[in-house]
Amino acid sequence: MADPRRAAAALARAIREAGDLVIPVDCVVCRRAPGPVCARCARDLVPAPASIARLAGGAPIVVGAMHTGAVAAVLRAIKDEARPGLVRHLGPLLAAALATLARDVDAAASTLTPVTVPGTRRSDRARGFRVTDRCCRVIGVAPHRALALVRQPGDQRGLDRDERVANVAASMRARDVAGRRIVIVDDVVTTGATLAEAARAVTAAGGLVVGAAAVSATPRHGGPRGGHGGRG
Ligand SMILES: [Zn+2]
Repeated sequence: MADPRRAAAALARAIREAGDLVIPVDCVVCRRAPGPVCARCARDLVPAPASIARLAGGAPIVVGAMHTGAVAAVLRAIKDEARPGLVRHLGPLLAAALATLARDVDAAASTLTPVTVPGTRRSDRARGFRVTDRCCRVIGVAPHRALALVRQPGDQRGLDRDERVANVAASMRARDVAGRRIVIVDDVVTTGATLAEAARAVTAAGGLVVGAAAVSATPRHGGPRGGHGGRG
């Protein structure tokens, strides 16, 4: 570890993860009961997979739940507090989304290659892990890291759909996807702009995008109100 910032981030992460295992910390959802997620709040993390929209070519976007309540709180803690140990609470949501997608496109899951959406260099480095990759690994899915950013988009928060599309346009490049049946995997779907850019890059590199799967989607896609925005 030559980079001292990275070493410090890794150390802080190890301490947090150890703390999650041995110390009864506050539940990240209700902040009242012992955590990291209390039994009552864990019941709100039950998968409810839904096809919420389609990519430009018609491929479905399937999410494991709406991005509200406990789902939003856990994902926010994973990202803002850099707590990868909490990812196991969201794994079943992504697993349900992937299984539903495979069924919807009439494919065996084993024939599909999951390609994770890259985070920004700054956010990945600050946390020391990539959220989408962790979500895959916790359910035994090996992510194919075929997508990379060719430029760093600005923060998506606060941008409307058109601004998000412009912000991420031509920001990704894919490799090693030619001839493969690809599922784009992300954590939160907000406007779909990030998934659209990922699908464009995969298609440009010769991959066949059969769909996208994510842990959750913000309520603008038709669910109950009150969620928190993701990156796109
Ligand atoms: Zn709780």
